[in-house]
Amino acid sequence: MKLSIKLRITIWFTTLMTLLTVIIVGFMLSTGKRLVLATTQNKLIEAVSDVSTKLRFNVNGFSLEEGVATYHEGVFVSIYDETGYLLYGEVPEDIKNDTAFIHEEIQEVHQGDATWFVYDSVYKTKHGMVWIRGMISRENEYDTFHVMSRLVLIGLPFLILLAAVGGYIIAKKAFRPIQKIIKAADEIGDGKDLSQRINLGEGKDEVYALANTFDRMMDRLQASFENEKQFTSDASHELRTPTTVIISQCEYALEHAKTVEEAKEALDKVLYQSHKMSNLISQLLLLARADKGQQKLNLEQINLSELTEVVVEQQTELAQEKKIHITSQIEPEIVMLGDETLLMRMLINLISNGISYGKEEGKLAILLSIEKHKVKLVVQDNGIGIAKENIHKIWSRFYQVDSSRSNSSVGLGLAMVKWIVEAHNGSVMVESELGKGSVFTVILPMSNGEG
Ligand code: ADP
Repeated sequence: MKLSIKLRITIWFTTLMTLLTVIIVGFMLSTGKRLVLATTQNKLIEAVSDVSTKLRFNVNGFSLEEGVATYHEGVFVSIYDETGYLLYGEVPEDIKNDTAFIHEEIQEVHQGDATWFVYDSVYKTKHGMVWIRGMISRENEYDTFHVMSRLVLIGLPFLILLAAVGGYIIAKKAFRPIQKIIKAADEIGDGKDLSQRINLGEGKDEVYALANTFDRMMDRLQASFENEKQFTSDASHELRTPTTVIISQCEYALEHAKTVEEAKEALDKVLYQSHKMSNLISQLLLLARADKGQQKLNLEQINLSELTEVVVEQQTELAQEKKIHITSQIEPEIVMLGDETLLMRMLINLISNGISYGKEEGKLAILLSIEKHKVKLVVQDNGIGIAKENIHKIWSRFYQVDSSRSNSSVGLGLAMVKWIVEAHNGSVMVESELGKGSVFTVILPMSNGEG
């Protein structure tokens, strides 16, 4: 049988408590009983010896000092002559007259349910001898003790029950958050509702910490799940546009193109869209591999200065179409450990963005230098800039502030830049002002490409 943790904890500590209480109470009762017995007997002996000190003999017999009571604090005291004849004092009814006299020994005399302790002491002088007898009822002395022990024995089960119920309630309360976690996890599992949270709020114990960790984990899971969904839908959308153009151009050419020129025109469009698609697919493939951690860096010592020169030269042609003036300040012979293809892609993406989002007859400056033993690349334009509210979004895949502006790219460029830089253990940041321009700064370690 499988019991819940609450029940197991409750059973365990209730059993332990019962055991402990039984042992402690048992010990207390047995020592208590012995203690009462010893006190009772001491009281008896003391009473007898007290009387003996107050006894006087003379020729006429014995006399007692004043103030000797025959009954005091449960002890009866009486005096007998040597034949056992009662000379003085009271004898409780329960004590038989034939109880033998034994010097300085406690006898137990049973009468019905009653038990008495009887203690005798012989008192001898040259004038004669007497027995002093003390008698005390055992029950009398035990009474309070018995009442108390009965109270304890009756009260104990109630106390244990109270502890068990209280313990169970506390355990149940402590486990309530866990119940909530189970419920939330179930609902997520059943309905794939990733927006479920436990929302326990702030608390000090471990269960609260667990619930909050769970919620944070769900935040991240939901975000990445939604990113994934967004990515898939964006990717399908981006692939659909060129596909539709290709199909319609082919259909048009097949049905309506009469001259070779007309067919060529359609083919041109098909080719352009095919390049665009192929470019998109290879970028997607790269990012997908990067996500899976399969994209290994092909690390080698590369001359980043030369690589930057080459890219700048390539891009100058594009820039000229927009009459953008490119200036570069490249520190020579910067050699670093890196993946040439990926770093080239990074340079192309940053510089081509500077051109795409630059203003006609604008400026684009490229600076490459070593600073604090690290490579620093700055790509600065005086183009359209990025609004503050959009600046954090530009690194997301498929994000475009204005998708009508560039028809050849789809918003993967900066996502790739970020991935490439981070894969080289570097960092990239942007400062931008709408209408004034943007500055992208990349910092890369010179060695140690993969950390
Ligand atoms: P895209 O394919 O659209 O260029 P990117 O990932 O390279 O995609 O850039 C994402 C968005 O960031 C761009 O659509 C653009 O709005 C903005 N952006 C990138 N670079 C610049 C820049 N130099 N100046 C202004 N906006 C930029």
